[in-house]
Amino acid sequence: MSSVPQTAPVVIIGAGCIGAAIAYHLGKRGVRDVVVLEKELFSGAGSTGKCAGGIRQQFSTPLNCTISQRSVHAYERFAEEMQTDPVFFQVGYLFLLSDPAMWERFQRQADMQRSLGIPTQTLTPEGASAIVPEVDMAGVLGATFCPTDGLGNPHEITQAYEARARALGARFLFGVPATGLVMDGTRVAAVRTAQGDIATPMVVNAAGPYAAEVAKWAGVDLPVLPYRRHCFTTKPMAFVHEKLPMIVDMKTGVYMHRESGGMLLGLADKDEPPGFDISTNWDFLEKVVEPAMERLPALAEAEIGHGWAGLYETTPDHNAVLGVPKRVQGLMLANGFSGHGFMQAPAVGELISEWIVDGKPSLDLHEMRLERFAEDAVVAEANVI
Ligand SMILES: Cc1cc2nc3c(=O)[nH]c(=O)nc-3n(C[C@H](O)[C@H](O)[C@H](O)COP(=O)(O)OP(=O)(O)OC[C@H]3O[C@@H](n4cnc5c(N)ncnc54)[C@H](O)[C@@H]3O)c2cc1C
Repeated sequence: MSSVPQTAPVVIIGAGCIGAAIAYHLGKRGVRDVVVLEKELFSGAGSTGKCAGGIRQQFSTPLNCTISQRSVHAYERFAEEMQTDPVFFQVGYLFLLSDPAMWERFQRQADMQRSLGIPTQTLTPEGASAIVPEVDMAGVLGATFCPTDGLGNPHEITQAYEARARALGARFLFGVPATGLVMDGTRVAAVRTAQGDIATPMVVNAAGPYAAEVAKWAGVDLPVLPYRRHCFTTKPMAFVHEKLPMIVDMKTGVYMHRESGGMLLGLADKDEPPGFDISTNWDFLEKVVEPAMERLPALAEAEIGHGWAGLYETTPDHNAVLGVPKRVQGLMLANGFSGHGFMQAPAVGELISEWIVDGKPSLDLHEMRLERFAEDAVVAEANVI
């Protein structure tokens, strides 16, 4: 247990990719002595460490595309800026479409993405086969492929954010949960811990799947629910190569990418109710392997290496909630990424730091305000995996 300071200019609750990225960007913008409270013993121990590492710009809303595009640019510079080994591999994301209406929608989205400067290609099944000859294209009407999408290493990236944030003056306190907020009227005045309060003018809620609990301490109703999601990996397989893209079969929702010489397979169990259980349900493995094998017949020979589960922090419209809620001062929300928080962390880290330091972010994030739910003004994200 570390001792907590009595005051801090900013206290961030949660050292996942989001909290660590915000701490780094605050340091870069000259905010010293930022405190990051993490209930676990290292950064990235929550959803970030369970993440599949996918980084894509192929979203249905222009705002999500733009946030991810900014993140991709940051990830392209990451190793140099953060002095790490390469952590981002632009192998591309290939979406396979078998439903006529969805294929139509993806083609329209590709136009929108290209208009933003994202190099998404629309492909015939033959064009997709040229990229992944291993895949069975039965029933596929078409595909979209963005070559600048790819895969990143969530642990190394989050730890690098932490290391650079520390070098810029941030303090990461592990094994120190925030237990409450001290309110002065409608303003957050301090963060409560078992070792005392930390007085601060700004608290950042970066608590991932636990974000609703933190918001509640300030009387804020934040609609973020935790949903268990699984990944399984195979042992190394002969057909797997470094350039294999992330493959997403939109017919079943199964996604697959290379991982340590084998394949990582993931699928959302849409029937599972929300909850904080992250035990691995091995009975679910079969439900993932079946649709994966249908597309990638070579998986028939696969031996499963590992399996794990983590939590998606999900909002009703599958979009993040960003910014200060209207009724409360001194609380910044960076929550509810609904399965795409890792890929959006670099941009979100920068935007939230701008908001705190300059009073507004350099991108219009109005669409992601908390109040959209009460105003019935949601623009839902459709491309959720
Ligand atoms: C199986 C799976 C696959 C995924 N695949 C992808 C993918 O391919 N691409 C992608 O972009 N995203 C993916 N995601 C989603 C991604 O992991 C999350 O969106 C992202 O990690 C959210 O980051 P975060 O920092 O907000 O949350 P977290 O990483 O959960 O960090 C929040 C931290 O807050 C801490 N905390 C909570 N409450 C308190 C408290 N009271 N006091 C102190 N600390 C507290 C937690 O311990 C945790 O470390 C996946 C998620 C899962 C589960």
